[in-house]
Amino acid sequence: MAEKIVVLGAGESGVGSAILAQKKGFDVWVSDKSAIKQNYKEMLVKYNIPFEELQHTENKILDATEVIKSPGIPESADIIKKIRAKGIPVVSEIEFACRYNKAKTICITGSNGKTTTTMLTYFILSHAGYNVGLAGNVGKSFALQVAEENFDYYVIELSSFQLDGMYDFRADVAILMNITPDHLDRYNYEFQNYINSKFRILQNLTQEQYFIYWSEDPVIKAELKKREVSASLAPFGANKENNVAWIDNGSLHVNCMNSFSIPVNDVYIKGIHNMYNSMAASLAASIVGVPDAVIKEALSLFKGVEHRLEYVDTIKGVRYINDSKATNIDSCWYALQSMTTPTVLILGGTDKGNDYNAILDLVKQKVHTLVFMGVDNAKLVKFFSENSNIPFVDTHSLKDAVEACYNAAKEGDTVLLSPCCASFDLFKNYENRGELFKEAVRALRK
Ligand code: ADP
Repeated sequence: MAEKIVVLGAGESGVGSAILAQKKGFDVWVSDKSAIKQNYKEMLVKYNIPFEELQHTENKILDATEVIKSPGIPESADIIKKIRAKGIPVVSEIEFACRYNKAKTICITGSNGKTTTTMLTYFILSHAGYNVGLAGNVGKSFALQVAEENFDYYVIELSSFQLDGMYDFRADVAILMNITPDHLDRYNYEFQNYINSKFRILQNLTQEQYFIYWSEDPVIKAELKKREVSASLAPFGANKENNVAWIDNGSLHVNCMNSFSIPVNDVYIKGIHNMYNSMAASLAASIVGVPDAVIKEALSLFKGVEHRLEYVDTIKGVRYINDSKATNIDSCWYALQSMTTPTVLILGGTDKGNDYNAILDLVKQKVHTLVFMGVDNAKLVKFFSENSNIPFVDTHSLKDAVEACYNAAKEGDTVLLSPCCASFDLFKNYENRGELFKEAVRALRK
């Protein structure tokens, strides 16, 4: 009898896993406690895969030989506790799919910069003419592509939740961008648990695989002192010392498989954080054999990813930047760091326990007016009125926030939406917040 695979969660990764499992001859069944989106339902029907929605039928789930769990379902969910108690193995989509994958993988994780680095690496490899797929948190699911495509390389963005369900998986090139506290609600409020999860990117690596990492990140540095790493190391950082990619004299230098430099000004995406992202992506590309000239050209062409320090428009001499994806303090810090003009900053939304002290100095240096945009801005109002003299405007809608920015900004200024907070109080998600912001900005022209 075929082994019984139960897939929990019928989103992008779940449906892809179900299709791959069926193709490999397993007896597959999908269960989702919420309503399944129409397009995913259609895929399951098309492939003749049985499923249920709006419930978890326990006895059927507990009859599985293996469970593939969507990264969105926490360990604390009732059904997961029961599966664990019965000793049924639980894996992630990536773990399951890697059993059937023959392509080389470049895997990217970190607290910030994952998507940008993933997209940039993918862009460089595509620009070089490689037969490459994009997977993980971005694009189509890895499992679906393993089932249906025939790529030579994959660039895969991995969240800590995906890494949690990975055991035998081995990346060919592993990238760890940085580690700052995030998602602690899923890790028993223990930062170390989150760090351990990120370090799973290193599991099973030998000298034949590469580990690219930001060597100056204090958390990564401390953690590496505690661990033995067998992979070949490819550290990058702002300084030359011990790094194979670094910044010096206004240029970004790479000295790994090949050796080249590119002026920072020639790299299209801006800000020190984007130099880190560029170094990581360049190292990965260099390790898989992309020629220098192609990497340099790609760095000058890649325009970044929507909602990440995305230039929107210049109106009456004021530049408007959409950084809606900045949903934590660290990403806002980098956004502010990259500001070269006086700035009007929009902050606010659903606060995930932010400590605004981390950006206070930079806000004082760069920002002349703060605009708070959220259902409840009390914490922001209290913090910035107690700790600074910066004028602020308290708004509760995007329209009012953009209008306040328009009134406060002078020619030569930048208006930056980099809100430090999740978007769910006023918007569907950060993409929706960014879209509406761009629309409101463009409407200022009319
Ligand atoms: P992730 O996929 O890890 O969330 P993104 O590339 O989507 O990362 O960027 C998220 C936010 O973090 C953006 O606001 C961006 O400006 C900021 N950011 C991008 N790269 C870095 C980095 N290397 N370090 C810190 N912040 C970054």
